Amino acid sequence: MQIYRISALSSNYIFLLYDAIQQIAAIVDPGEANSVLKKVEELGVEVVAILNTHHHWDHVDGNLQVLQRFPNAVVYAGRRDRGRIPGLQVELDAGDRVKFGDREAEVLFLPGHTHGHIAYYFAPVGQEAGELFCGDVLFSAGCGRLKEGTPAEMVDSLRQIRALPDQTRVWCAHEYTLANLEFAVTVDRENPELQARLAEVRSLGSQPTIPADLGLEKRTNPFLRWDTPEIQNTMGKTGAVETFALLRQKKDRF
Ligand code: ZN
Ligand code: FE
Repeated sequence: MQIYRISALSSNYIFLLYDAIQQIAAIVDPGEANSVLKKVEELGVEVVAILNTHHHWDHVDGNLQVLQRFPNAVVYAGRRDRGRIPGLQVELDAGDRVKFGDREAEVLFLPGHTHGHIAYYFAPVGQEAGELFCGDVLFSAGCGRLKEGTPAEMVDSLRQIRALPDQTRVWCAHEYTLANLEFAVTVDRENPELQARLAEVRSLGSQPTIPADLGLEKRTNPFLRWDTPEIQNTMGKTGAVETFALLRQKKDRF
């Protein structure tokens, strides 16, 4: 499975999954259709699936235009997003599996950013890496805002992501990395790897930083580190949910 990262709207990434043998493609979160359909034409492939992570417009607004061009494509999203995903056909629950080419994604139910948010995790096989499409739950060095869910839900969702192997590539749906790192260094002040990451991303200028490496995220993303002494000391809290909630509030005001 090859993955193309397509920049769209102001900060979004749309991902095009491509199986060269079967000549098929799937689109993760087409918030807009033109940019991704251009890539589809270039490859000359058939789009067989749209994989939505959640109902926000910047993730689903291109669904119907993709369906118009590829009427046989199947639209997948979380069951709890019923009624708010254009063209939704297959409603998914935690643990469900979605086949694409010779790979299979496991569905994770990850509420917090929204009530119905899901992610698609392709476990590694042979030489192929593990891939996580997590929408707006985890960003590099950050996480999604709590638009609908509670801190407890979000901590549980982030815990599920943290349980995946370090080698996982994380395909976050927005390029927010630099701003996130600038906040991260204010709450995790003596983390050399975080400092190095900030310096590296600054030097990249406007180049993409996605996919992120989950191992590196576990070591440098404060929103995956609510139970470390560093973050707990800064926040003056010890409970997971309390620490996370305060951290999220602080970032919202940053
Ligand atoms: Zn969102
Ligand atoms: Fe978004």
